[in-house]
Amino acid sequence: PSSTPSVPSTKFELDRETELRLEVEGSAPVQVELVSGLAEVFGTELVKNKKYTFPPGSRAAVFTWHGCTVQLFGSPDTAYVSKDTPMLLYLNTHVALEQMRVQAEREGERGPRVLVAGPSDVGKSTLCRLLLNYAVRIGRRPAMVELDVGQGSVSVPGTVGALCVERPADVEEGFSTQAPLIYHFGSTTPGTNIKLYNKLTSRLAQVFNLRCDSNRRAAVSGCIINTCGWVKGGGYQAIIHAASAFEVDVVIVLDQERLYNDLHRDLPHFVHTILLPKSGGASERSKECRRESRDQRVREYFYGPRGSLYPHAFEVKFSEVKVYKVGAPSIPDSCLPLGMSQEDNQLKLVPVTPGRDMAHHLLSVVPLEGGLPDESIEEKNVAGFIVSTGVDIERQTLTVLSPAPRPLPKCVLLIMDIRFMDLK
Ligand code: ADP
Repeated sequence: PSSTPSVPSTKFELDRETELRLEVEGSAPVQVELVSGLAEVFGTELVKNKKYTFPPGSRAAVFTWHGCTVQLFGSPDTAYVSKDTPMLLYLNTHVALEQMRVQAEREGERGPRVLVAGPSDVGKSTLCRLLLNYAVRIGRRPAMVELDVGQGSVSVPGTVGALCVERPADVEEGFSTQAPLIYHFGSTTPGTNIKLYNKLTSRLAQVFNLRCDSNRRAAVSGCIINTCGWVKGGGYQAIIHAASAFEVDVVIVLDQERLYNDLHRDLPHFVHTILLPKSGGASERSKECRRESRDQRVREYFYGPRGSLYPHAFEVKFSEVKVYKVGAPSIPDSCLPLGMSQEDNQLKLVPVTPGRDMAHHLLSVVPLEGGLPDESIEEKNVAGFIVSTGVDIERQTLTVLSPAPRPLPKCVLLIMDIRFMDLK
């Protein structure tokens, strides 16, 4: 393909327990090939003599436990070898978790439920991926629970979700997201509706518990929960809530001693709280960069990770869709109906009349059997997403971009705050 960089640039000889860190920023992708030895990217082993492509916007590390030679094609903005990595500590954490699984297996108990917390860009998602990869590589089937509504890896931004990990993550595409559990949240920060956020967290925990009841292997394997980088105020409370909803056994705090101290103090004493350093490779991303990576997630949803999918564009009449927003705007307490609290308002389904301001919004498709939405529509699994690319008031129609051809299934659409410009 035309995007393949042709010039080999540099060969790197990596000593044991070192990593090659890459940042690709420009417009051209970079490729990496393992020439000899053994190496892994965030816990997934590289296949020798295979070229892996990292598109613009990627950051990655090729780590080796035993030493290797790597050939780089193209010119990344940054490429350097670091000897100073926390990988040994991360591996030890995996080993400790595995001991807990072995013990759970022996004693008929359930395996470790682990929550990873810390500020933004300290490598939380990366550590989750590593721990899941190491577990699945030795035959475990852990669940990945994604509570990061801004930069989640299970589905598009504005959702929370979970999936059962059955094989290591693909180096380029991450974990296979077939049949994930996805719930609509609607925005990129839990703060916009903390009540809904906590409710969805509880719902995920409930579904995971059901799965553990019927599947011994899943119960023993446990889960790894990724959380948002918002660790103060309501964000902190949301972490405490998640820890209690999932009845976690281990909380790993990356990088922030204060958060570690607070959690250590506030969580029940049987929860093992540990502080781990962040990797020097996990560096802060700009707001712009984070927005771009969210956009990229949505684009990948419609067009496939390599742009190999063709979404459908079609019109739907206003009269054919039922659009709702979860959560009514807050009103003065004195105006609330008797017996209703501000918080009840946050879970209210508010009908949205299709109109011009719906353009470019992302909408979750929640299939409906019965017709009218029942009480807890927001607790239903989302089947997919569409984006309204255009609104025609005169003809009373929306043009939508959809992964599936027309017509839309019998469904309710939940509108997100998140917008996506389809520029393809
Ligand atoms: P968080 O989930 O805490 O926001 P991420 O796990 O998404 O952080 O990491 C932030 C960025 O740093 C990601 O782009 C990730 O690929 C990159 N990254 C993490 N660890 C390393 C590393 N050791 N070397 C290079 N890049 C890394």
